[in-house]
This record gives sequence, structure tokens and C-alpha cells, in this order.
Amino acid sequence: MSETSKSAQPDPAQRCAGPNCGVLRREGQQWWLMWLSYRDGRYPVLALCPWEDHVAAQEGALPVCGELCAQKLQSQFMGNVMRERRQARSHIA
Ligand SMILES: [Zn+2]
Repeated sequence: MSETSKSAQPDPAQRCAGPNCGVLRREGQQWWLMWLSYRDGRYPVLALCPWEDHVAAQEGALPVCGELCAQKLQSQFMGNVMRERRQARSHIA
């Protein structure tokens, strides 16, 4: 994180986070943003909102080029949550 002085440059993170995608965002394209947060500090929540530059600049925001990639990321999120729950249960048993 030594390049904070280059804030006028296009954000290099504007590359789709969708699995097997990775396209670069062009100026003016209607993209989406997704991020993971924790409700009550422990329940994972996947959030989605239309592209806003100031939201995109926030830590943990995932650029998403469209519906298909949003669905893939949602599917990945759901899979991860289920796997973690199964693992947590198997540790208790
Ligand atoms: Zn994509």
C-alpha cells in the first residue's frame, strides 16, 4: 500500500472479481459491487449494490461486471458458509 499518492489514477482493483472472469471495467459501464460483512459481528452477510466510485474504493469491495458474475460469487459465498458450518459441526462432534 505504498501507492496512496496515486489516488487520481484509475483504481487497479476495477477488475471483475467473478470466478474465471477478471475483465477490466471501462469508464461509464454499469457494474456492481459486492462485499462481505458480519451482522452482529458473527453472521456472514453478502451485500450487493450498484456501482459507486466511493464504495468501490472501500476495503473489501468486490467489483462485479454483471448478473452472471454476481450469481457466481453468491454461489461461492453460500458454498463457503455451508462448508464452514459443516466443519464447525464436525469439530464439536
Ligand atoms: Zn465478471
